[in-house]
Order: sequence, then C-alpha cells, then structure tokens
Amino acid sequence: PRALDPQALRAEFPALDQAVHGHPLVYLDNAATTQKPLAVLAALDHYYRRDNANVHRGIHELSRRATDAYEGARETVANWIGAGSPSELIWTRGTTEALNLVAWAWGSAEVGEGDEILLSVQDHHSNLVPWQLLAQRTGARLRYIEIDDEGRWILDDLDELVGERTRIVAVSHVSNALGTVNPVADLVAAVKQRSTARVVIDGAQAVPHLPVDVRALGCDFYAFSGHKMCGPTGIGGLWGRPEVLEAMPPFQGGGEMIDEVRRDGSSWASVPHKFEAGTPNIAGAIGMAAAVEWLGGFEPGAVLAHEQALSAYTMERLGEMGGVRVYGPADPAERSGVVSFDMEGTHPHDISTILDTRGVAIRAGHHCAQLVMRRYDTAATARASFYLYNTRDDVDRLIEGLAAVRDIFG
Ligand code: PMP
Repeated sequence: PRALDPQALRAEFPALDQAVHGHPLVYLDNAATTQKPLAVLAALDHYYRRDNANVHRGIHELSRRATDAYEGARETVANWIGAGSPSELIWTRGTTEALNLVAWAWGSAEVGEGDEILLSVQDHHSNLVPWQLLAQRTGARLRYIEIDDEGRWILDDLDELVGERTRIVAVSHVSNALGTVNPVADLVAAVKQRSTARVVIDGAQAVPHLPVDVRALGCDFYAFSGHKMCGPTGIGGLWGRPEVLEAMPPFQGGGEMIDEVRRDGSSWASVPHKFEAGTPNIAGAIGMAAAVEWLGGFEPGAVLAHEQALSAYTMERLGEMGGVRVYGPADPAERSGVVSFDMEGTHPHDISTILDTRGVAIRAGHHCAQLVMRRYDTAATARASFYLYNTRDDVDRLIEGLAAVRDIFG
C-alpha cells in the first residue's frame, strides 16, 4: 500500500488547487461532499468518450463494454464493503435513496400497525424521515435512542426499547453532525438478542473514512454514497443480506427490473436488478469503483487515523481560543474527522461567511440533524470536516480565520 501523504496527494485533486476570494482554497466541508481525484475524473471521461452505451440490452460491442464496466464496478464496490457477492449490492442514487428503498420495499411489506421502529436522535434526516413516512403509512410507532452530553448512544434502557414489537432498527454508523463513531456491531448483537428486528445502518459517513465489513457488523442493510468518498454525485449503494433481498418486493417499476411483463402483471428480474428500474447511473457506478480502487491503495485504517489526528489538533487549538464549545465526544479516538463547534456571541452562519472570504470552506447550519441540534439546545453549529487530503496547515488557516471572526465580533 501507498503511504498516506496528504500534501503529496493533493496534487491529484485539481479542485483543491485554486484560489477563492484571493486565498488558496482550504476545503473543510468533506462531510457534505468530497473532491475528486484524477483517477475518478479519468474513469468518467474514458467511459463517456469510448464505451458509452446502455447496459444489459444491446448486443453490440459498446453495450457489452458498458455492461462489463458497470457490473465490474459493482463487484469492486461490493468487495470494498465486505459483501459476500456482487448481487448483494444494489446501486442507488445515494444513501438517501437506499434508505427510502428499504423503507418502501421492505417496510411497506413487513411493518404494520402497532409495530415499532427504533431510530436515534443522532441521525441525519435521511435516516429519520423515510421511517416517519413509513410509520404514517402503517400506523407503526417510532421510538428513539437518546444521546449523552458527548453525542454517544445511551443504551442502558435497551431492554425497554427493543422487544417483540420492534421490526426495524435504523441508525447511523458515524454521525455527520457530531463525528461520533458508534458501536454498531455491539448494537446489532444486542438487538438480535432481543428481537427479530432488521437492522439498517446509514454508513454515509463511515464507508469513506474507515474499513467497513458489512457481514462482520451483522446488520441486514447498509447504505452509503459515492460522492462522500471521492466518487461522483448521484451514485451510491445499498447492501442487503441475500435472503432478505430475495424475499423483498421491488421498489420502483420499469425497464431492467422485470423478467416477464404480461397484461395482468409481471415477474421480476433476479436480485439485484429487481431493485434497479430504468437506465442506471452507469458512469456514476464506474466512477465510484474508480474512487474505491484509488482509496484502496492506502493502508486500511490510515484515513481514519489521519482524520482523528486532525480532529485532535483542531480540538486542541479551539480549546486554546476559549469561548468555543465543541460538540461530540471529548476523546478524538471516539470520533471521525468531523468537528462541530460554536463560538460565544457569534452565529455559525457569520463564522462560515467570514471564513469564506478567507478561502476557508466549512458548513454552518443544522447539518440535516435537527434532533441533534434540539438535544443540545442550539439551532446551528459550525462544522469543519476532514478528508485524507487535509493537513495541519488547513487547520491553522481555520484557526486564523476564527481569530479574525473573534476580532470582528469582539
Ligand atoms: N446520512 C448521513 C449520516 C449523511 O451525512 C448524509 C449526507 N449528508 C446522508 C445520510 C445523505 O446522503 P446523500 O445526500 O448522499 O443521499
């Protein structure tokens, strides 16, 4: 494997090499989306220049190439997350569509009135709202895992939260708002001891940053997005336990997902194509596989270790400033590369606006996690989020910018 040298690999990211408002760009909004390396840009360019055709249909050379590249990409990404077979991976638009797919296809068939769906207040709206809609359709009851002052799940009352009525437990692997890395395997084991519930994991903030083995986690579904891991937008995946996918009815109807269409009904293609109606995002899948191959060049665990070191350094520098509140675990070892904070007397949107004038990109707002904001009695936080190309210099630029914010707001 290649050593993770952030400074050296920046040369592979054209978007990082630009000035913003007269300053070299410091990109610290990676939890929202990441920049793309040349390897991914080249894969997209090659596909559109040479191999572009629809998949699984035409019996001609380009269609064969497109189909091979598309299905080869599935194998690459499936291996990356520890799937037992490529057919366990369904291509989706991203995490959001993957979670909606489970809520509609599995949820509508398997959840009824009086059943319970267990969520966590730590979650992103895309792992809350699909389940709320399912509960409204079916009359199921929503329950929540609470979080402590440092953003960790409180699991003391699990005996009360999980039981015979629990049909689904849907939680995230890593929090996008707080950076908490959750003990997912332990929760899955505890849920399986107490119920027959299916466990759905939102891995949007995990797969890009740490080694994930979906089968070792013991969950039933696992969702993630390509654009947060150096891949293109509009592509992501849903891993499902094979026997669950076999039994699950389709999500959307259309071409590619059928076996036979009759006047009175239809039969379905086999898994995973049963869940992929219409022309898929062929280029996206190919680009995502290129991202996985590129990321796979580094030592497993190197990305998280690098991000945790940057988080630790950021928290130390923020601590020195005084009047800054950092959300999430105090111990960087329990975090990813997300640092959410606010400064006394300053609105997070003002922080990000001033930082932007200095070429520093962060995110301010509720981060699609309003239940987290409510838990800590705030409306918004400022959030710096790292990836493998960020450096200590980037953190220093952030801190200098925050000192300027403080000068302006007193
Ligand atoms: N879950 C989490 C934890 C996320 O951070 C995000 C992206 N912000 C999503 C889900 C949604 O991902 P996407 O917008 O790519 O569907």
